[in-house]
Parts: sequence; structure tokens; C-alpha cells
Amino acid sequence: MTEGEIMKKIYFTVGPSQVYPTLHKHMGKAIKEEICSLNHRSQQFKNLYKETADGLKKLLNVPENFQIFFVSSATESMERVIQSCCQDTSFHIVAGAFGKAWSNYASQVGKNAVTHIFENTPDVNLDNLTVPKAAEIICITQNETSTGCSIPIEEIINLKKKNPEKLVAIDIVSSAPYIDINFKYIDIAFFSVQKGFGLPAGLAVIIAGPKALEKTEKMIKKGIKVGSYHSFRSLSEKAKDYQTPLTPNVLNIYLLNSVVKDMLKLSANKIRKDTEKKAQMIYGYFKTSTRYFPFIKNPLFCSPTTPVLDVLGDSEQIRKKLSKKGFIIGAGYGTNRENHIRIANFPAHTIKNVSTLLKHIRYII
Ligand SMILES: *Cc1c(COP(=O)(O)O)cnc(C)c1O
Repeated sequence: MTEGEIMKKIYFTVGPSQVYPTLHKHMGKAIKEEICSLNHRSQQFKNLYKETADGLKKLLNVPENFQIFFVSSATESMERVIQSCCQDTSFHIVAGAFGKAWSNYASQVGKNAVTHIFENTPDVNLDNLTVPKAAEIICITQNETSTGCSIPIEEIINLKKKNPEKLVAIDIVSSAPYIDINFKYIDIAFFSVQKGFGLPAGLAVIIAGPKALEKTEKMIKKGIKVGSYHSFRSLSEKAKDYQTPLTPNVLNIYLLNSVVKDMLKLSANKIRKDTEKKAQMIYGYFKTSTRYFPFIKNPLFCSPTTPVLDVLGDSEQIRKKLSKKGFIIGAGYGTNRENHIRIANFPAHTIKNVSTLLKHIRYII
């Protein structure tokens, strides 16, 4: 490498993460097609919205009667879901920082946010969980990026079957597009694009089902506020005409459309199979390590997409050594910064990338 040349890095960070391999090509095309000047009230934008929504529905198996909304972040999505779908009481299953944040936002917008916290061992078993009667919506961080705890979709479906009259909203920020959802049992799902889709930050997608939109309308009829510039009402009304209430991140929607098409060409099935293979490689390695181990003990709850490993205070040292080789991995979240490492396993990470990363880790340890 000559002086001034930048070493090519591979980002195994959990978000923002490694960009999708075709991103550069699509960005070049976007500039050529003058997408950054595209009027968001134009027919061309409407076509782009429709194509992106249709592609996402195909990739994620979303039923026809669900709507796709574009907002600015997953954090915004958390607040909008609460404002538009909860009159008084929300219920939050918390297995880490993102679940906790969601319940905090619910409190901050004046709701009675009841939480069930799985504190030290966030291996979540929903079997014996009692959902408060008053709760209108159950909020679940399906893949908790801070702890690497992933709740199997079957567990969530069982919970919905036991509470059919309550809405179920899931945060799939760090599990999409891997996570295979049966939307018969899910009313709302959302994600931002800088994780599993390998895109720049600043765009999020809310997938909203008919029951969620009915709830918004019921609240409006009662005179309850459901949000301001972005509410499920305003987003839904505009989405019917492939429009948005405000000037959206058109460039990122264009890039998402392009990457979704690439992913459809690969097929969701192939993405899932590869993700599982890479997850087995990562967990397989740390299972044989005598020093370090997965933070989540129960393999059923070990996230395939964001494995979190307990490295007993060696996090910084490992991260520094890997960084010298061009491999950037995540520190632990919050107070676990030095105890954990986090390794993203997204579609942008190839099997070869993971194999080389593990080789370096083996050498370091
Ligand atoms: C990253 C992340 C978020 C926040 O996403 P933003 O786009 O930064 O708002 C929310 N939930 C989970 C599970 C995440 O991993």
C-alpha cells in the first residue's frame, strides 16, 4: 500500500455496517439519472415508491393489504407506532437498550408504558408472560442489537394467538431481510436501512397492517392526537397515491429499490441460508473457545444477524488488532462496551469475509 492510499476495510459493525456490494454502482447511476433533483410530487417518484414498496412486499412476504411507509429512522418509527396505535397503555418486552428506548419514548409521549424486563439473562421465554389487560399494543424488539438476543418469530406468534385483540408491533431493524415473518400475526414491523440492507442511514420503512390503521382511525374519531406531520393517517392517505407527507430521502429510496431488486435476484431463501451458515461459523468458533463465549446462553435466542460475544474485558484490544487487519467489528453496547464484541452478519458480508475474520480472531486469541 502506498502512502495516502486508504486500506480497504470490511465493516462488521452492527450499524452503520458494510455497504451492500452493488451500492457504488447504484449511486453512480443515481447521480447520472439526477435522482437528487427528482421532484417528490412527480410521476417518476410515484413509480419509484410503487416499485420499492412492491419489491419490499415480495422480499419480506408482506400481504397486499399492508402499507409501506417511508420515515426518517427506526427511532422515529418507535414513536409514530405509539402515537398512532396506542391510546393509553402499551406493553414492552425489553431484552436490551433498544427495547428500553421504545418504552421510554412511549412514556415521553404521555402513554402508560408497562415493561417486562428480562434483565441479566435476556434469553427471553414468552411462554409464561402475562400481558396486562389494559395494554392495547405489544411492542417487541425482535432482534435486540445491544445484547444479541433474538426472539424466535414462533414465540411472538404464540403470544399474538394468546392475545388476539392486541396489536403486535415488532422492531426488525437488525434482522431484516433475514427474518421470515408470517404477517397474519403481526400488525406492524419497521426497520432502518443502514443495517441489513447495507445502505446509508437516514431512511426507515414501516410496514403497517389493516388492524393498525383501524386503530388510528378509532383514535381520531375519539378526538385523540395520533401524531403531527407523520401519523399513520397522514402516511396512509399519501401512500395510497405513492406519495409522502414531506420531502423524503429520495436518493435512499432509490438505492433501497435497487438493492431490494438485487436481493430478489439472489432470493430471500438464499440470503437466509447464507446468513445461517455464517452464523454457525461465528457461534461455532466461539463455542470451541475456552475463554470467550456467546453472551446469550440459550442457542434458541442467539441472534443469527448480530452475534454478541462476551470477551471478558478484552474488547478494545481485540477490536484494535482486527482494525489493523482492516476488519472493523462492534464494541459492546453501553456499559458492556469493554466486555463484549458485536459482529454483524448481514447480506453484505460474504462467507469468505466471515471465514477470514474468524481466521484473524483465531490468530489474535
Ligand atoms: C439501530 C437500531 C435502532 C435505531 O435505528 P435508527 O435508524 O438509528 O433510529 C432501533 N432498533 C434496533 C434494534 C436497532 O438495532
